[in-house]
Amino acid sequence: MEFEPVIGLEIHAQMATQSKIFCNCSTEFGKPPNANTCPVCLGLPGVLPVLNKQVLEYAVRLGLATNCTIRLDSQFARKNYFYPDLPKAYQISQFDRPICENGWLNIDVDGQTKKIGITRIHMEEDAGKLMHGEGEGDWSYVDLNRAGVPLLEIVSEPDLRTPEEAKAYMEKIHSLVCYLGISDGDMEKGNLRCDANVSLRLTGQEEFGTRTETKNLNSFRFIQQAIAYEIVRQREELLDGNEIVQETRLWDSDKKITYSMRSKEEAHDYRYFPDPDLPVPHIAQDWVDSIAASLPELPDAKRERFIHEYGLRPEDANVLVAEQSVADYYEEVVAHHANPKTACNWVIMEMGRVMNETRKSIQELGISANHLAELIGLIEDNSISGKMAKTVFEEMLQNPQAPHAIVESKGLKQISDEDALGRQIDEILNNNPAQVEQYRAGKTKVLGFFVGQIMKATKGQANPQVVNQLLKQKLDS
Ligand code: ADP
Ligand code: MG
Ligand code: ZN
Repeated sequence: MEFEPVIGLEIHAQMATQSKIFCNCSTEFGKPPNANTCPVCLGLPGVLPVLNKQVLEYAVRLGLATNCTIRLDSQFARKNYFYPDLPKAYQISQFDRPICENGWLNIDVDGQTKKIGITRIHMEEDAGKLMHGEGEGDWSYVDLNRAGVPLLEIVSEPDLRTPEEAKAYMEKIHSLVCYLGISDGDMEKGNLRCDANVSLRLTGQEEFGTRTETKNLNSFRFIQQAIAYEIVRQREELLDGNEIVQETRLWDSDKKITYSMRSKEEAHDYRYFPDPDLPVPHIAQDWVDSIAASLPELPDAKRERFIHEYGLRPEDANVLVAEQSVADYYEEVVAHHANPKTACNWVIMEMGRVMNETRKSIQELGISANHLAELIGLIEDNSISGKMAKTVFEEMLQNPQAPHAIVESKGLKQISDEDALGRQIDEILNNNPAQVEQYRAGKTKVLGFFVGQIMKATKGQANPQVVNQLLKQKLDS
C-alpha cells in the first residue's frame, strides 16, 4: 500500500503596525506585562473597536501579491470561545467575508515550479499570553500586551504534497511579507508561524484522509521536520490498521516528535456572527488599484529579471531574490561593474556562508558592494588568484578596507608578467638539469615539480596558468 501526503498550511503573520488593530495601544515588544493595554483591548464593557486602516492596507497588499480577489465589503466576525487569554471571550476575526480569497503563488522545489492555491487571507486580532509558574505564588498570570495585535491569517489549499514543498511555501510567504514591508517575518519571535494540516490517502484515491493539525511551528526546519514526522506516524498507524484521529498536535523540537494536544472532541462551535460593533469597511476599487500600483518588484519578477539581465541560473536567482536585502546588495555589486556571474557566486557562496555562520544580515557583514566588486575585479584581471581572494575576503570581514590595500599590505599580488616569470623559470630549469632530462624523456609528471619550485620561489604569487603555459613552452622547445 502506498500513501500520498496531503498538506495545507494556516499561517499567522503579525503585522508591523505601530498600534494595535482596534485601539491605539502600542504593539511594541518587550514592555512590562499589561503596559500596552486600554479598555478596548482589555475587553471592558461599553467600549468600541475602531479598525486600524493600516491593517486593511497591509491585507490588501498581501492579497494583491498572492493573486487574490479583494473583497470591497469584507466583514469582521466574532469567533466565540472561552480561554483566559481572551478577555472578551471572543476573538474579532473574519468568517464568511474575508478580505482576500482565491489566490495562488508559485513555489520552486527541485527545479520544478508548482502553483499552490490560497483559499483566503483574513484579518484578526491576536490573543494575550498566559504565564504559568512565573511571578509570585502558585498563580497563573495574564499579559494582554499582545491582545489586539494585528494578524493576517493565510490559509492554503491542501495542494502541498511533501515537507519540502511546505517549507518552500512558507519561505515564499516569508519572502513576500518582508518584501511588502507588512511584517518583520521574525519567526523566532513568533511573528510568522504556521499550523500544518497533514493527512494521508491511498495513492490514486480521490478523497482526502483524516487530518491532524500541528500548531505553532515557528521555523522553516520545524515545519519540514514536523510534517515529515506526521507522515511517518500516520503511515504506521494506517498500516497497523488503525484510524487517524482528527486532533490538534504540538511539535516537541527537542524530541523531534509531535504529540496530541487535544482531540477535536469539541468539533469547535465558534458561533461566528458578524461583529455589530464594527461597520463593514467599504473600500473603493480606486484605493485597491493605487495599492497595486505601489507594490515593489516582487521575488518572482525579480528572479525572471535576474535570469535575463544577468544570465544567472534559475536556482541561483532564487537564492538571491529570497531576501530583498541580498538581492539589492547583489545589484549594487553588479552596478559597480563586477562580472554578474562571479558576483552571484561570491554573494551566495562566500557571503551566504558567513551570513549563516554569524546569523548576520548581508549589510552587517560590513563589506561594501563597492569593495566586493573591486575584489571580483582583481580576480578577473588576474591580479590575484581565487585562493588569494579568499584570504583577502577573510581579512575584509575582520577589518573593512579596500581589497587593493589588503593585497598590498599582505604582499598578495599575483605575478602574471611573462618576462618576470620567464626569468624565474629559466633559472629553475638551469638549476635542475636532471629533471629537465626526465621531462624530455617523456616523464611529463615532473612538470608539477617545476610548478612547485616556482611557487616556492615566488611565495605562491605566481599565476599558475601563466607558469604552466610558459613551462610547457620552454620544455617542449
Ligand atoms: P479549520 O479552520 O477547521 O482548521 P479548514 O477547512 O479551514 O479547517 O482547513 C484548514 C487547513 O487545512 C487548510 O489549509 C486546508 O488546506 C487544510 N486541509 C483541509 N483538509 C485537509 C486534509 N484532509 N488534509 C490536509 N490538509 C487539509
Ligand atoms: Mg485550523
Ligand atoms: Zn488597547
